[in-house]
Amino acid sequence: MASHSPASTAARPAPQSDIPTYEAIVVGGGISGMYLTYRLRELGVNFHVFEAGSDVGGTWYWCRYPGARFDSESWTYGYFFDEELLQEWEWKEHFSPQPDTLEYLNHVADKYDFRRDMTFNAKVVAAEFDDAANQWTVTFEDGGQARATLLITGLGVLSAPTLPNIPGLEDFQGQSFHTARWPHEPVSFEGKRVGIIGTGATAIQAIPEIAKTAGHLSVFQRHPNWSAPLHNAKITPEEQKDIKARYKEIYARCWETVACFIHHPDPRSALEVTPEEREAFWEKLYSEPGFGIWLGNFRDVLTDERANALMTEFAARKIRERVDDPVVAEKLIPKNHGFGLRRLPLESGYFEAYNRPNVRLVDLNEAPIERITAKGVKTTAEEHELDILIYATGFDGVTGPYDRIDIRGPGGRSLKEEWKELPTTLYGVINDGFPNLLMVLGPHTARGNIPRNIEMLVDFNIGLIRHMRENGYTRIEPRPEAAAEWLAQVKEVDALLLSSKIPSWQTGVNQNVPGRQTPRVLGYNGGAVRYRKTIEKVAAGGYKEFKFG
Ligand code: NAP
Repeated sequence: MASHSPASTAARPAPQSDIPTYEAIVVGGGISGMYLTYRLRELGVNFHVFEAGSDVGGTWYWCRYPGARFDSESWTYGYFFDEELLQEWEWKEHFSPQPDTLEYLNHVADKYDFRRDMTFNAKVVAAEFDDAANQWTVTFEDGGQARATLLITGLGVLSAPTLPNIPGLEDFQGQSFHTARWPHEPVSFEGKRVGIIGTGATAIQAIPEIAKTAGHLSVFQRHPNWSAPLHNAKITPEEQKDIKARYKEIYARCWETVACFIHHPDPRSALEVTPEEREAFWEKLYSEPGFGIWLGNFRDVLTDERANALMTEFAARKIRERVDDPVVAEKLIPKNHGFGLRRLPLESGYFEAYNRPNVRLVDLNEAPIERITAKGVKTTAEEHELDILIYATGFDGVTGPYDRIDIRGPGGRSLKEEWKELPTTLYGVINDGFPNLLMVLGPHTARGNIPRNIEMLVDFNIGLIRHMRENGYTRIEPRPEAAAEWLAQVKEVDALLLSSKIPSWQTGVNQNVPGRQTPRVLGYNGGAVRYRKTIEKVAAGGYKEFKFG
């Protein structure tokens, strides 16, 4: 751990009296942890942030793979808590690349001196609740410990990367990386034989970039994903001026849409317009930047099978138009889910990458991977010799980051065991049976534009903490009946979406993680507007759904 840390002296388990004790411990120094730092300071809470990485940034600290960038509009993504920050920061591109985003987060951390309340290289491996003292003790990887009345998690939903369950990973003699553990030093692909396993949002961004310089790129695909053009562009000085003048309006727009982006479903049904109108609308959406084609589509594209089938047909046609080899094009068209039923990746020249002579699509349905060897990847058909092997194999989503910490509530109750089936949270901020453990972006919260959702959740958590402080409470937990009622609501709205049955990280499926093979309800799919109204009503009503002590 860093030397300025109060826990840094604890390289070995410290004697009890030396354990630093706070009112609140925050786990994670990403977008959530940084905003929590701002709000907890404002409230005068004695707190400390512990972060596993060597600096701030979370996702944007870890995911440094080539091509990594937002596929939400940069100017809707940043923090909105300070007008001065909004006016001084200049996003360079409409969809910011990872290095610029990390620079932004560093700028914010510098400006508000966040690091003075943070300890880095401090990976939390366990947390145990003392029921009599109403206190959490967290243990770090190096054996050090810290204590607090409140444990607040800013773990994110995609921070537990998973490697493929293929034999021989350790045998490979070349360089290999998971995209979410990308080295800080530049990686050169120049003239190299590169392999990438996975074709999710990450690979869809990385493949066109790597293909530009690699000697040869083999893409190992098990299932293709739908994708649509990002249409990124540099922000011109005139646009910059306009964005800065319209921040109030942009912010208000984010709070009236279904997922806090600028896009909102069109009120028309795909089935009630003429085929010509439908086609013209889809062509327009396909030519426009951002998530419009996913979240600004006809209102029933993600809820009605017939509407979704028509959109799926349109998107398949686009792939056939863009990929020269019809056999490759067919392989790139998903057959196991309709358009938009998984989180839609946006791409910049992804399909055209397959038209390059140095890129080969390896269909793992025809010849599955047998093992990783010293030289590369061996499928049932052949051995692909590689210099660099990239695992773009995703994350154990939503519950994975929690499962990796041994969290024990009263009586040694394990959160991981509790969450084997379904979490029972109250608004996704606290789980039944785990007092004083507050979550940002926990299971069963609304999602979409992540920083906006983080803002909403941090502000709600801060309200709870303020309420505790004002009333002298040291314990908070959900009323079990309120948590059960929330779960019922979460399930009810989830059933309305076609995506609820589709395996993906959003439904908690990861073929590489034992016990995670079937879809679960892990998000609140009633939309950000409804979610926000719910928690605002709870706050206005004095938090009656919670028990305090
Ligand atoms: P992902 O969507 O879960 O994709 C993982 C890929 O790895 C899939 O193609 C999967 O194939 C493949 N895979 C996993 N294990 C495998 C194995 N054993 N053998 C062969 N293939 C295997 O993960 P991701 O691409 O990292 O994206 C996750 C999420 O991160 C996205 O949905 C998005 O929310 C977020 N993300 C955001 C951005 C952005 O904002 N711009 C960029 C990147 C990612 P199967 O489908 O067959 O399992």
